[in-house]
Amino acid sequence: MPQWLIDWLATAPLADLALVFLVENLLILAGVVCAGSALMALFAHRRVALAPEPVTFSDGAVALVNVGLNTLTTIAGLLLWRAGAITFRTDVGVRALLDAAVLLVVMDFAMYWLHRLAHTRPLYGLLHRYHHTFDRPRPLTLFALNPAENLAFGALWLAVLCVYDASWVGMTIYLVLNVAFGTVGHLGVEPVPPGLAGRALVRQVAGASFHAQHHQDKDCNYGFYTVLWDRLFGTVRPDYLESFGRIPAWVKR
Ligand SMILES: [Zn+2]
Ligand SMILES: [Zn+2]
Repeated sequence: MPQWLIDWLATAPLADLALVFLVENLLILAGVVCAGSALMALFAHRRVALAPEPVTFSDGAVALVNVGLNTLTTIAGLLLWRAGAITFRTDVGVRALLDAAVLLVVMDFAMYWLHRLAHTRPLYGLLHRYHHTFDRPRPLTLFALNPAENLAFGALWLAVLCVYDASWVGMTIYLVLNVAFGTVGHLGVEPVPPGLAGRALVRQVAGASFHAQHHQDKDCNYGFYTVLWDRLFGTVRPDYLESFGRIPAWVKR
């Protein structure tokens, strides 16, 4: 990260930073919707969930509320950095790549358990039911979160950064991949070719088919980036690979 940017982050008025972070998060929303819509159109012949209902005014409003909350999390991260609770390294190279891998594995594990916790009573009704009203996911569903649920995930991310001194490059790679996984998981279509479905790497990566099945059967497939923890803790849907790339036969039409 260039020194001028670090200096600006350290000294700029909070209102200026909040505006920049809001624009950044709005651009992420726009990117998710645009790239997601393009992929949905490109792979429309490979639906893994029923076609989504038209977007409503409230879907858009909830997405904007979540953009606001993501901005709050970004501001909270900045304040924790200014206070010295979060530090980041500026090196690039292999160690920075390793950071991205560490963050992916740690966050995947923590979010797997947070997600399972969100499926227990009374938390499910209080926090997570809203996300599951969308059994026909679309990219915008990534932003269909109860505010408390969104803030819980944000708090988890900041807590990890407080204990792990990651590089700026590693954090950026992780954040880009996080948005990419979230987008793919809510496409409702499967972009991975059927011939690759059985390959070792694809079997371990939580993609469109995997998360679409979670939206259709909330008792399985809790992972966000990998299938690893679901395999380890016995929560993969038994017909996950059989149903890969198509709408499972058990989905109510
Ligand atoms: Zn989802
Ligand atoms: Zn869930």
